[in-house]
Amino acid sequence: MKITVIGTGYVGLVVGACLADMGNSVICVDNNEEKLKQLEQGIIPIYEPGLEELVKANVHENRLSFTSDIDFAVKESQVCFIAVGTPQGEDGSADLQYVFNVAASIAKSMNGYKVIVDKSTVPVGTAEKVTALIAKNTSFDFDVVSNPEFLKQGNAVDDFLSPDRVIIGSNSDKATQIMQEIYSPFLRTANRIILMDVKSAEMTKYAANSFLATKISFMNEVANLCEKVGANAEMVRVGMSTDSRIGNKFLFPGLGYGGSCFPKDVKALIKTGNEFGCDMSIIAAADKTNKLQRKLFLEKISKHFNADLSGKKFAVWGLAFKPKTNDMREAPSITIIEDLLSKGAKIKAFDPKAMETAKFIFKDKIEYSKNSYDTVVDADALLLLTEWNEFRRPDFEKVKSLMKTPVIFDGRNQYNAERIHEKGFTYYQIGKI
Ligand code: NAD
Repeated sequence: MKITVIGTGYVGLVVGACLADMGNSVICVDNNEEKLKQLEQGIIPIYEPGLEELVKANVHENRLSFTSDIDFAVKESQVCFIAVGTPQGEDGSADLQYVFNVAASIAKSMNGYKVIVDKSTVPVGTAEKVTALIAKNTSFDFDVVSNPEFLKQGNAVDDFLSPDRVIIGSNSDKATQIMQEIYSPFLRTANRIILMDVKSAEMTKYAANSFLATKISFMNEVANLCEKVGANAEMVRVGMSTDSRIGNKFLFPGLGYGGSCFPKDVKALIKTGNEFGCDMSIIAAADKTNKLQRKLFLEKISKHFNADLSGKKFAVWGLAFKPKTNDMREAPSITIIEDLLSKGAKIKAFDPKAMETAKFIFKDKIEYSKNSYDTVVDADALLLLTEWNEFRRPDFEKVKSLMKTPVIFDGRNQYNAERIHEKGFTYYQIGKI
């Protein structure tokens, strides 16, 4: 099948490469010329395990190409996926300007029946608006389908190739059939396509992300109480998560959720609720607790140094919002580093994949390190902010010998407190004393 994917970011590039890998002829469109230049040279602008190989193989087989020419791409294709960003607008709602721009461009380039797929995360009612916008600008027949994406950054290729489920929100049998054809190669062992109406599909994505965000905030709230009452949040987590009704995912206390999805999707759902006069207090509380989590971590640091951080040197391990990505959108590291800098502290940071992203964000406000050990030289304290594998079992003797004072603030509960104390560190974690 001939397919166009518009928006070649974390989602669009993975979707495009995976669809091409199944034998489709895929054109990826983006309006960022710099990104396109890199892709044409075989440079993958993001870090995502397995993606580089997949892109290169499919470009080599002429199944995958890149362009800024949306008109050409749409004319060539029967199905157009919209995978542009839907960032948080000023009032908390999803900013749909990129989706509508693309929809308008598609409308102008129509040359026959097309299925237009909302892959971007968009609020309920967006497909209706996209339909109206396109209908105003073309006389050709078309259908708009909602097909929200559930891949996880850091595991995106595998998630797309073997999805837990594929949600297809469609009000047209013809479009549904085409979408089923596209996804059938990914679902050979069991058909995990869930068909529903468009609005339910749009809502499913926000409900799923907000539920997961709430689970994280719930556990963080419990962990904060554990710390106060002298309970161990890790034991509580294990105790809770063995109940199959609760499950063992998303229950790790930490610095709260970040990334390009949860924070904005939670806010957008609250906004939709407010627009329709619905009380969204559970989800609003998840958002509030999430912000508090970073503040409490900063308070721990401040308390340890008697509220005087001026001139203190902090080593930071981990900048990406989660391991296995170079993405720092809404990463806890940004809030934490900015706050420490505002109090006169000095930062030296290291992340296995997000150094270039960090340089773009912090410029010369912080020092950048080459590896984890170089980061801790002369540090007053080490902050573990992202749980990359390589930070899991460091040589603590070496770390201690390089630091000015052996203090660790672990925002991800990675180490065994007893062993760390034995090695002579002062060790702070989340939800445990
Ligand atoms: P992104 O910012 O990485 O990528 C968006 C791309 O769209 C950029 O490359 C940008 O240059 C391009 N673009 C913007 N306007 C364009 C236009 N008019 N024409 C062509 N290209 C244009 O965003 P992302 O993380 O891939 O997210 C895309 C959507 O998918 C969002 O709605 C997001 O909520 C959703 N989503 C993201 C994830 C994730 O893990 N990142 C997971 C599921 C769903």
